[in-house]
Amino acid sequence: METRNTKQKELILDILSRKENMIHPTIGELTTLVLNEDKSIGQATIYRNIKKLVREGKIKKILTNDGYRYDINADLHGHLVCVKCHSVYDLYDESYNKLVAHLEKNYQVKISNTNIIFDGLCPKCQESNNK
Ligand SMILES: [Zn+2]
Ligand SMILES: [Zn+2]
Repeated sequence: METRNTKQKELILDILSRKENMIHPTIGELTTLVLNEDKSIGQATIYRNIKKLVREGKIKKILTNDGYRYDINADLHGHLVCVKCHSVYDLYDESYNKLVAHLEKNYQVKISNTNIIFDGLCPKCQESNNK
């Protein structure tokens, strides 16, 4: 049973790390992607394995206005969620590290996870707004 679970978790990680899936899927989208690869896995099992991966710190759960999205990229980064097309963009910036260090020092806390979300318009939607 454990090896079966390991295999399924590996499949989930593999699917999430593919370039075409860097869309920060919702749990529904991620489940569909897994089922496309292996129809024999039950939905409850997929949900359970996704939860386990989050607990193990292998994938990140990010809370957006549309609900939870999943991200395999564990590097410290923020997200822009487009209010129009709902795509999620990764935003990398040196300053997050500085901010975390600053907050840890000023408040004597240890930050282990972040959920930095910006709402706004993605480049594509800004273009279509101007048309
Ligand atoms: Zn957009
Ligand atoms: Zn991301």
